[in-house]
Amino acid sequence: MNEPADSPNPDSPSTGSAGGSGTDFIREKIAADVADGPYGGRVQTRFPPEPNGFLHIGHAKAIALNFGIAEEFDGTCVLRFDDTNPDTEDSRFVDAIQDDIAWLGYRPSTIAYASDYFGRLHDWAVQLIEAGLAYVDDQDAETISANRGGFTEPGVDSPWRDRTVDENLDLFARMRAGEFAEGEKVLRARIDMNHDNMAMRDPVMYRIRHSHHFRTGDDWKIYPTYDWAHGQSDAIEGTTHSLCTLEFDTHRPLYEWFHEQLGLAEDRPRQTEFARLNLTHTVMSKRKLAQLVSDGLVDGWDDPRMPTLRGLRRRGYPPEAIRAFAAHIGVARVNGTHEIELLESFVRTHHNTHALRRMAVLDPLEVVITNWPEGLADTRQAVNNPEDDTAGTRDVPFGGRLFIERADFMVDPPKKFYRLAPGREVRLRAGYFITCTDVETDDDGEIVRLLCSYDPETAGGQAPDGRKVKATIHWVSAAHAVDGTVVLYDRLFTDSHPGADGTDPLASLNPSSREIRTGCKLEPALADTPPGEVVQFERLGYFAHDLDEPLRFHRTVGLRDEWANIQKRRDL
Ligand code: ATP
Ligand code: MG
Repeated sequence: MNEPADSPNPDSPSTGSAGGSGTDFIREKIAADVADGPYGGRVQTRFPPEPNGFLHIGHAKAIALNFGIAEEFDGTCVLRFDDTNPDTEDSRFVDAIQDDIAWLGYRPSTIAYASDYFGRLHDWAVQLIEAGLAYVDDQDAETISANRGGFTEPGVDSPWRDRTVDENLDLFARMRAGEFAEGEKVLRARIDMNHDNMAMRDPVMYRIRHSHHFRTGDDWKIYPTYDWAHGQSDAIEGTTHSLCTLEFDTHRPLYEWFHEQLGLAEDRPRQTEFARLNLTHTVMSKRKLAQLVSDGLVDGWDDPRMPTLRGLRRRGYPPEAIRAFAAHIGVARVNGTHEIELLESFVRTHHNTHALRRMAVLDPLEVVITNWPEGLADTRQAVNNPEDDTAGTRDVPFGGRLFIERADFMVDPPKKFYRLAPGREVRLRAGYFITCTDVETDDDGEIVRLLCSYDPETAGGQAPDGRKVKATIHWVSAAHAVDGTVVLYDRLFTDSHPGADGTDPLASLNPSSREIRTGCKLEPALADTPPGEVVQFERLGYFAHDLDEPLRFHRTVGLRDEWANIQKRRDL
């Protein structure tokens, strides 16, 4: 965290405010409104995505907040597609957004579209024109922007600002009828070009677009801006609390201005702002995410390295962990950045209690048990999840030829290396003690095979004579191993705050964020893992079975609690 105001609770994730029972300035305000507000105790929120891309972890914060509040206050939450820009929107995004919200575990009370209100918004605009509160401007976008002035500089009135109501009505009708080219005219609110708040300097309400809209087709040639569509859509739907991110705080006076000019009743919506979610090593801008996809820097929107909900899903992030994370970080009034390790700790905590343990060898080294009785078929019993007794045990086939991890053996081990070495004995997880008796190398000196002996008396993982070993390693029986592909991931961006110094965030793209290992040796039970399920590969981390390709596993997170380490360093 950079901002103390947004500092997460240092409690471990499992003891955090998971479940959203905590309170915050928004919930306090809503509770006060329920007790004594203009809404008669009613609470209605909305989540308003623009269907121009896929949802990401930042959206999950807004979803958890809006849907969570509706649940807590016995209210409703509308999913409203803010489909006011026909150039970039598409029904495939509408479907994906609904799917992702359902996956997170929320259900909208109603699904609505800003485009459902185009007629109503148009009529309201006419009402403002008639009241002398809106006018058609012929200036182009560049001139309008230049003439808005700056914080210390007043704006310049448009030469078209004092058109008569009749002329404005006529021009607005012709804009709507498609008589003008894109950019030729806009409709603006007539407020004050010298207003202290730049958002109040005659903001644009409508622009001309001749594109085809995915829902309204070619019915409309004019499209409302966010400022015009948003607050009025909230009002039409009966929103009580319109929660949006901090960058809209300067737009709140405008939000209220429109409602006042339209003469809406006292139970009209109120806007409250909260901090956006930012995460270290993560880019959340839809535009930048789209560029990663279009430039082929990732394998699409659902690449497991993407912060999209689809990417996180493929990566093995459970919705419960995302919800618990959102509840834990809560809402703040100051923008800040959370460490990605905190989110990962929620993922790890969830899987620690839920994931079945399995054995997989990612970099296989063959081990021959020289004293294994010829033809002996053996199975070892392994615990499926030490955190969950109900998960039971499984049989793991054992034999005279095994694979172990290449990194678990050293010919000439340094002091603190306790795993296998010539002459040394170690324990095989859920198996026997083995001792390395010989090493076979090829012509280049590469180790190709280890010869080991095993002690049949150590079947339970203990030696009857009480002798100890210092290491336990995982293994897979060569005769029973299933070949699979394991994909390892590192941060997609090497910088903790990509682009924070004003550079292109893509400049810190990690060139080795993905490592694909083929020919991994998996214990046979892994072949029965359902698509999308996450298992723990003993000693290696949590891995998600791919949603489409059998026997492809993505590393979700490692086993080490990086977040605890960060906390420890901070406490020093
Ligand atoms: P853009 O406006 O560039 O398309 P956006 O991220 O604002 O991108 P929307 O679809 O408009 O996308 O967002 C829908 C809702 O999600 C908005 O209310 C927005 O405030 C909220 N939201 C988006 N990003 C974040 C974030 N990082 N943290 C919290 N809320 C977010
Ligand atoms: Mg937006």
